[in-house]
Amino acid sequence: MSPLRANVYVAPAIPWSKPNGKEGGPWSPISCTLIHSDNEAVLVDTPITNAQNEDLAAWIESTIPGKRLTTIYITHGHADHWLGINMLQKRFPGVRAVATEGTVAHMKQQVEPAAFKATWGTQFPNQIDTEFALADPLPASGEFQLEGHILRAIEVGHSDTHDTTVLWVPDISLAVCGDVVYGDVHCMLGAANTKALREEWITAIEKVEALHPETVVPGHMKPGELTGTFHLAATKQYIRDFGDVVGEDGKNAREIAGEMLRRYPTRFNQGALLVGAMAAAKIGQMGKL
Ligand SMILES: [Zn+2]
Repeated sequence: MSPLRANVYVAPAIPWSKPNGKEGGPWSPISCTLIHSDNEAVLVDTPITNAQNEDLAAWIESTIPGKRLTTIYITHGHADHWLGINMLQKRFPGVRAVATEGTVAHMKQQVEPAAFKATWGTQFPNQIDTEFALADPLPASGEFQLEGHILRAIEVGHSDTHDTTVLWVPDISLAVCGDVVYGDVHCMLGAANTKALREEWITAIEKVEALHPETVVPGHMKPGELTGTFHLAATKQYIRDFGDVVGEDGKNAREIAGEMLRRYPTRFNQGALLVGAMAAAKIGQMGKL
């Protein structure tokens, strides 16, 4: 069997819009991983907008000339990791998209008309392909093949959202981690807004550690970052630090974000940090009532 290789493309950060049309800040850069053997390839996750997905498609063509993209694997339901499926299926005829049942159910929720209009449709107006193509559910084993090599979806539970997975590629000890692991980008703690959910996220990372990966690709990372296993411990530490900073003493969102920025001055996307800080502060205040 021919050896597997892999490349990572990071779709650069783009601005998102508030409901009033004003710029809301940057959206975190999104990693897309291409795993390939002699003749075929699997892509993990896509970015959001038509322009981003055009760039991704051009990168795929130049990275694996002569090889056929057969499958797109989606790590979790957040639409910023899969809105390119339809465009890529047109560009690469015959490519199928797959995900776990939990991811497929979450994908459907993301594009229900009212939900889509209130979120992605507002944040990226007229930039998204709204002929949505969803993934097909994988069998319960989570396994599929790339020219005889097994690839396996590993369900790890709640990380920055529910029902998240990593794609495990045993032959090259590669874990493509979606939102379970972050690079030098602020983790989105808007949904993981309680101590119990933050602990669940840490448990999800420990499930990746138990695979003993040699390479770890974070779902959100800066272009050019290494895809090292150190991201596992770094993401756990970030989540623990966030919990310590939130503490028990009812800090407000600005205080939480300010202290996290002091501890993590290089991480990208302060807006993502602020969303998490606001969610944690709100829960803290509700606990005090
Ligand atoms: Zn994400």
